[in-house]
Amino acid sequence: MSTTDKNISVFDVAQVRKDFPILLEKAHGKPLIYFDNAATSQKPQVVIDAISNYYSHYNANIHRGVHFLSQKASNAFDDVRFKVKHFLNSRSEREIIFVRGTTEAINLVASTYGRKNVHAGDEVLITAMEHHSNIVPWQLLCEEKGAKLKVIPMNDSGELMMEELEFLITDKTKIISVVHTSNSLGTINPVKEIIVKAHAKGIPVFVDGAQSTVHSVIDVQELDCDFFAFSGHKMLGPTGIGCLYGKAELLEQMPPYMGGGEMISAVSFEKTTFNEVPFKFEAGTPNIADVIALGVAIDYLMQMDRTEALAHEHELLKYAMHHLSKIEGVRLIGTALNKASVVSFVLKEINAFDAGMYLDTKGIAVRTGHHCTEPIMTRLNIPGTIRASFLFYNTFEEVDALVDHVAKAIAFLKPQHA
Ligand code: PMP
Repeated sequence: MSTTDKNISVFDVAQVRKDFPILLEKAHGKPLIYFDNAATSQKPQVVIDAISNYYSHYNANIHRGVHFLSQKASNAFDDVRFKVKHFLNSRSEREIIFVRGTTEAINLVASTYGRKNVHAGDEVLITAMEHHSNIVPWQLLCEEKGAKLKVIPMNDSGELMMEELEFLITDKTKIISVVHTSNSLGTINPVKEIIVKAHAKGIPVFVDGAQSTVHSVIDVQELDCDFFAFSGHKMLGPTGIGCLYGKAELLEQMPPYMGGGEMISAVSFEKTTFNEVPFKFEAGTPNIADVIALGVAIDYLMQMDRTEALAHEHELLKYAMHHLSKIEGVRLIGTALNKASVVSFVLKEINAFDAGMYLDTKGIAVRTGHHCTEPIMTRLNIPGTIRASFLFYNTFEEVDALVDHVAKAIAFLKPQHA
């Protein structure tokens, strides 16, 4: 079967699209084609309803109320921790901490595990394709402690140079933090291999799952990562909520992140004792509505045939890469063998931003720029890319429209040389 045949998918996209009301919207009078899924995914109606339902029918603060509404909200909130446990296949719900998103999860670990364990002269290892949120927290830590931030390099296709790993992991390495799936390139990194090598030297590994959680089935026990983070809004859930998974034995040793209500066991002016994990890391009133809606997003994903959904995304990726690469003036950026449904490209002599603006007038939402991964752009010597990122609700016809309008954008925006 041809790799570019658009009819091979058995996944019922038309049916799935009905669950996402926004996909019927128009942009500039044209049917919306939403290809900015790596920035944030759209939400199914059930997720949108869950938020409104909570505020309409059982809004109450949780855990300290004896009344009906508080009990109902507490139960709904607490259930989600079990759902996340199941979704990530962690050993225990105690290993699941609710945070605002991946950024907060990384900051939490850098500020607690990092501050406790990284000292002057130590090393923190990341990769060349990290999102800024998996660079800056470690950089801040290293500056504070006098430690060194080291980087696993990548090749021109956007794949990690794994052969360098054995030289980069040293006796001074205290933690390794790697992006599972690159938001700019789509590269799926061999995190399992990194984890095995790190564990051989007793080094814990943090996996940034912001992009991988919706594009793969995550099993933290199988990966054996020490920490894993994801953002709800990239996997059909609301903004402002995400999860940090951490192995219980590590979480227990870590000092708290923020102080306040809920994270304590007893408080006096002389001394405070802390609550057990995960509550030790959840100070203050949590984002109750969005935790509940995140639970619904997880239910939605788990009731899908994910194998089919992911196969459909993969076909969209192959189809888009094949047809875009045939257009004169298009250069694909990020051609790793193992890739999620993210296509980045540059156009000869045409600014990515201008092309993005042009596509927007046709109703096509892509992202342009460095995608919060400036070091990737520096490494590849480009100012930025045009990025189309697909999710299972996208169609081959939408990709056709992208390909068609990219070709037209080139003709329209091409500088006229004298
Ligand atoms: N890591 C990666 C790979 C990402 O793509 C993103 C979001 N673009 C983040 C981290 C940060 O996620 P958030 O902004 O939801 O905290």
